[in-house]
Amino acid sequence: MSRKKFIAGNWKMNTTVEEAVALAKGVVEAVGGVSDVDVAVCPPYTNLSAVSQAIKGSNVKLGAQDVHWEAKGAFTGKVSCDMLKSVGVTYVIIGHSEQRQYFGETNGTVNKKTKAVLAAGLLPIVCVGETLDERNGGKMDAVIDGQTRGAFEGISASDAAKCTIAYEPVWAIGTGVTATPEQANEAHVFIRNILVSLYGKDTADKMRIQYGGSMKPDNAKGLLALSDIDGGLIGGAALKPADFAGIVQPK
Ligand code: PEP
Repeated sequence: MSRKKFIAGNWKMNTTVEEAVALAKGVVEAVGGVSDVDVAVCPPYTNLSAVSQAIKGSNVKLGAQDVHWEAKGAFTGKVSCDMLKSVGVTYVIIGHSEQRQYFGETNGTVNKKTKAVLAAGLLPIVCVGETLDERNGGKMDAVIDGQTRGAFEGISASDAAKCTIAYEPVWAIGTGVTATPEQANEAHVFIRNILVSLYGKDTADKMRIQYGGSMKPDNAKGLLALSDIDGGLIGGAALKPADFAGIVQPK
């Protein structure tokens, strides 16, 4: 089964509006014409509108880093799916490990957000991944199983097929330590098998599983060559157009 690769840049809490526009323009210049890989950038909320304009007319799509599941109302500090749609967002990152670690994200809130995003016609990027303690304690499979099944509870196969999963071992995020291609692919195959058990092989084969965790131009090729690694969710290296381009089109 061949799945189109998908590389998304998670800019996290970086960039002012001016910096975001410059970065977006750099990304468009470097990879805006690429059509054999799906490419997205995910700036902070404050810069979505400006980046939406900066990428217009290119193949680069816009993503958000989070969303709230409610449609509107008294939820100070939160942003809804319709608000994201109104500024041109296509993808929404859900359940990033930093959200889980610092801001109380649970498998339950990931599930609510995933349902809301799908209902709004947006495309979720659902993050899963184990901490170093969980891996060393032999809990990796149980953690990934719980996160994946939790995220997709009550979601139909046709909706699940629209989702991307990002496998991000927490110990590899922003640390410079990358999972070896074999470690990563093993986890991806494990996740694919959970999807097969939930939705059957046809749907599971359609779903893209990105790797995330210190992916860079010099390790991207090896990771992306593996059977079940369908792209990358990129943090640090997404902040430099040349590095990001070196992952989209690794040499
Ligand atoms: C991330 O946080 O999604 C990520 C993968 O970060 P980095 O590439 O910096 O490890």
